[in-house]
Amino acid sequence: MRIDLHTHSVASDGTETPAEVMAAAAAAGLDVVALTDHDTTRGWDEAGAAAQRLGVALVRGVELSCRHAGRSLHLLSYLHVPDHPALLAEAERVRAARQSRARRMVDLLSEDFDLTWADVEEQTGADATVGRPHIADALVALGVVPDRSAAFDELLAAGSRYWVPHHAPELVDAIDLVRQAGGVPVLAHPGAPTRGRAVTEAEVAQLAARGLAGLEVWHRDHTDAEQLRLEALAERFELLATGSSDYHGAGKPNRLGENLTSDDTLTAIEEAGRLEVLRS
Ligand code: AMP
Ligand code: ZN
Ligand code: FE
Ligand code: FE
Repeated sequence: MRIDLHTHSVASDGTETPAEVMAAAAAAGLDVVALTDHDTTRGWDEAGAAAQRLGVALVRGVELSCRHAGRSLHLLSYLHVPDHPALLAEAERVRAARQSRARRMVDLLSEDFDLTWADVEEQTGADATVGRPHIADALVALGVVPDRSAAFDELLAAGSRYWVPHHAPELVDAIDLVRQAGGVPVLAHPGAPTRGRAVTEAEVAQLAARGLAGLEVWHRDHTDAEQLRLEALAERFELLATGSSDYHGAGKPNRLGENLTSDDTLTAIEEAGRLEVLRS
């Protein structure tokens, strides 16, 4: 089976609606796809209805913004109960913090560019989790940069004078919340160089002991050597190893199905998760 466990829609910073992501997944020949918008499950219902129509199996998920040892890390959760009060409250807190952070970044950018908050709102889906990609899209619309990636290269990069951090839960606390909500916590792109230091062996050991279920090993932000390192760490600490595209529609070069997850790993995720994979 062709299984891709990491995608984004306009519920966060993808460029396609949840139904369009499902249609793109079917067109890419995927059998199973996960929708994992940043800090929200608002795309689940639309994605579920479209997936059933299209004959694609849907893994309902989310990508939670977290912090660990001074850096920003992302935690994927699969098949958790979406209305678990504590997990939902934390996700909503992050979404609110992302909103004020984006406004502060726009304030800083507006000192040098003709950018307003309304320009960013125009690029952001209704009730979407706002992120730097929406600011990037506004800068593209103004002709400041040619595309999202160019905006991320300098203006929006961590370390840029326009960059502002936002609140996010401690990774170990987020792992606890995901487990309480019946989800399967998998660390997203743990060796991506733009996020700061790659996750170390000692950290993986500690996180595995705290309930982490898996590592996203096969991801385009990892070098071949990094994928081998992470695969070995997953094996050593008895963690699942996933592969995914991190598709954002037209917003990123990532193509659906460019990395895949094995059938056995999906079975293990489904056994550990509270919800079922939606199959038509
Ligand atoms: P933020 O969530 O606000 O910190 O913004 C970072 C997010 O932008 C990452 O999680 C990526 O998923 C997303 N992103 C979308 N398009 C790009 C791009 N072209 N380059 C880098 N990051 C991108
Ligand atoms: Zn994203
Ligand atoms: Fe991510
Ligand atoms: Fe992502």
